[in-house]
Amino acid sequence: MLEIVPLRAFKDNYVWTLRDARVAAVVDPGDARPVLDYLASENLRLVAILATHHHQDHVGGIAELLQEYPVPVYGPRGEPITTLTHPIRGGDKVVLKELDVSFEVLDIPGHTRAHIAYYGANMLFCGDTLFACGCGRVFEGTARQLHESLEKLTALPEQTRVYCGHEYTLANIAFAKAVEPDNAALLEREASDSQLRRDNRPTLPSTIGREKATNPFLRLNRPAVIQSANKYLGRRISDPAGIFAALREWKNQF
Ligand SMILES: [Zn+2]
Repeated sequence: MLEIVPLRAFKDNYVWTLRDARVAAVVDPGDARPVLDYLASENLRLVAILATHHHQDHVGGIAELLQEYPVPVYGPRGEPITTLTHPIRGGDKVVLKELDVSFEVLDIPGHTRAHIAYYGANMLFCGDTLFACGCGRVFEGTARQLHESLEKLTALPEQTRVYCGHEYTLANIAFAKAVEPDNAALLEREASDSQLRRDNRPTLPSTIGREKATNPFLRLNRPAVIQSANKYLGRRISDPAGIFAALREWKNQF
């Protein structure tokens, strides 16, 4: 039976580990150490590595893992990741037969030029594109690209579990409250996620439904979101792409 385990790396990264009783695959191993320790302690054999984008805190541990486990490495073919054995892009399929699970690859550029996500079995591994109650920064793409990528993700079924690359949730909620102070679902989320963090537990996975109810970057047509973005900009706009760009810029300074 497939289980998803978060392994912590660096300050706030998660290396998502898919496992059964014997084998495991990891998503975005920025650091090999926590993965090697976990595999050893659980007596698991690594069978695959999946990468969402080329940032070092997501791929930096791959070379060391390959020394012990020469496994297939899947990742975006449009990004400079020297350890990839299987460069892939949107529309491709990744089959992990040892774990009896397969994923559809989605192109979601914006944070980086060719960022991809893995979607399958009611799960989404989306790296640094969609975060719980927030989204990634625009480093290599454009705000318009990132907006379109997030729209692609919000079209997935609401019960889809969302596994993001970082534990940024409480800081994101603080910003979301500045945008939408009267969103009751957001205030409930703040209470429950704050409790999880006090218990030293991850706030992830989220779900697409939960994000649609609380994440301001997915709520660009809401009057309160438009009003707050207009206040930040000091002028009146209402097109979703413009509202998105305003929120992204505001969040960078928040
Ligand atoms: Zn990144």
